[in-house]
Amino acid sequence: MRETDLLVVGAGAAGLSAASEAAKHGLAVTVLDDNLLPGGQYFRRLPTGYHHTHETVFDKERQRANALYATTGQKGITYLNDAVVWESPENGVLAFARGADSGRIRAKLTIIASGAHDRPAPFPGWTLPGVVTAGGLQNLLKGQRVIPGRRAIVAGNGPLVLLVGATLARAGAELREVVEAAPILKRLAGSIADLIAMPKIVRQAVDYRLAIMKSGARLRTGWTVIEARGADELEEVVLAPIDATGKVDRSRARAVKADLLVVGFGLMPSIELVRLLDCKLEWKPLRGGWVPVRGADFETSRPGVLAVGDGAGIGGVEMALREGKLAGVIAAERLGKLSRDQAANLKAPIQAEIAKVETFRRGLERLYAMPPAFLDLLTPETIVCRCEDVTAGELRARQDAGFGSTAALKGTTRTTMGRCQGRNCLRTLSALIAQASGQPIEQVTMPRPRLPARLVTIGDLLQEELPPIEMPKDPHLPRGERVS
Ligand SMILES: Cc1cc2nc3c(=O)[nH]c(=O)nc-3n(C[C@H](O)[C@H](O)[C@H](O)COP(=O)(O)OP(=O)(O)OC[C@H]3O[C@@H](n4cnc5c(N)ncnc54)[C@H](O)[C@@H]3O)c2cc1C
Repeated sequence: MRETDLLVVGAGAAGLSAASEAAKHGLAVTVLDDNLLPGGQYFRRLPTGYHHTHETVFDKERQRANALYATTGQKGITYLNDAVVWESPENGVLAFARGADSGRIRAKLTIIASGAHDRPAPFPGWTLPGVVTAGGLQNLLKGQRVIPGRRAIVAGNGPLVLLVGATLARAGAELREVVEAAPILKRLAGSIADLIAMPKIVRQAVDYRLAIMKSGARLRTGWTVIEARGADELEEVVLAPIDATGKVDRSRARAVKADLLVVGFGLMPSIELVRLLDCKLEWKPLRGGWVPVRGADFETSRPGVLAVGDGAGIGGVEMALREGKLAGVIAAERLGKLSRDQAANLKAPIQAEIAKVETFRRGLERLYAMPPAFLDLLTPETIVCRCEDVTAGELRARQDAGFGSTAALKGTTRTTMGRCQGRNCLRTLSALIAQASGQPIEQVTMPRPRLPARLVTIGDLLQEELPPIEMPKDPHLPRGERVS
């Protein structure tokens, strides 16, 4: 079995910052990441072999990105790409799938920096070709330079909406509408004092807004998408305002022709690994939902396992970079490479920066707090579990028939059991159960975490190191019983 001082899962902003800092202080660090190239989501790059002819809007972060990519070649760091961490067979050991190089790794300390995924928001038509998530679109733009349509509408809730709108406009799409569900213009005055803690990001947001306005697209706040229509693919999008009580006002709905709808209702932390490690979770809706409980040094309830970045609660790239760096110092101190005083000196400026980002984040949360009543968009035909094609009507009928718990609905409909393993449907399933039972969503039981934490191939599993098989001498005796 391989051994390392520090194991980092995730080569995004948080994971690479942690690895770089820890290696700088003399730790042997191994970084595992399931992508082919380092960078995670924010610093996603073009695949090897793509030819880059000129600077584009995606190169504005090139300097920071290159510094982060270079981390993978830094002394003391072993970087394993295309490595899916899928099991923890024993305390301090993680198993990863990497073709013929699959294996297990024992670490003195582990940092989980697993990032996030798009928060699903079902509404009629959300599974039509031409409807994509905000994160998915950013991946296509950054990782392939592809716009999957021409006439575009962006709708959702949160800072990614403005960013995606501006990026599409700059990338040459015919942007029609950008629709933010929260009434952010009305709330701006109440948030500005916190937002100016990060003036660079405020300037960026103003730039995004200007790019959208310049494109001729209409920018609406306090509106939402309520339906995507089309025979075989997206043809038009129905938008409607949200009233002061959080209800959609269908009387003022309007349809807009489009062949690309980008939907972004925020992100959710990827918590498969911390669940697999049996770390305690807490419900923080403003940080994306379920997040690992962490102490001041980012340690989860599982000793020796730290969690940082979006995987520990959505905080954005600036937070992820700083949390990662701080975790690197914490790891070096914990494993004896830095004295308490040396570590304290290094931690202080990073903690001060984190406090600033935290202030900014609180401002953002107030600005974008999601209006309620999104379950009202579901019609009986709306698909909730897109892997297993389970509709809201089917789930509600099962609930009426007495199958009210997560386990009962999962067992009778296969919701959460498909390829996405619940990433796209668990949140809606929990919301439906909460609505029917009158419980708060955080009291709805989650399904038990199952192996593998991420999809792996059978070929990868065949590489697993298994203990020698114990065969009885007499094959008719039960296993383990031997003829003396
Ligand atoms: C799809 C998507 C697109 C986004 N695009 C933007 C954007 O354009 N602009 C912006 O400001 N913010 C964007 N965000 C938010 C931004 O990416 C994050 O704030 C930032 O990247 C967080 O850094 P991180 O290191 O915590 O996570 P990430 O950058 O997401 O890195 C986590 C890494 O861990 C890997 N990983 C997770 N689980 C495992 C496992 N079991 N085994 C192996 N590897 C694993 C992931 O594949 C990923 O490479 C996006 C988020 C998502 C989900």
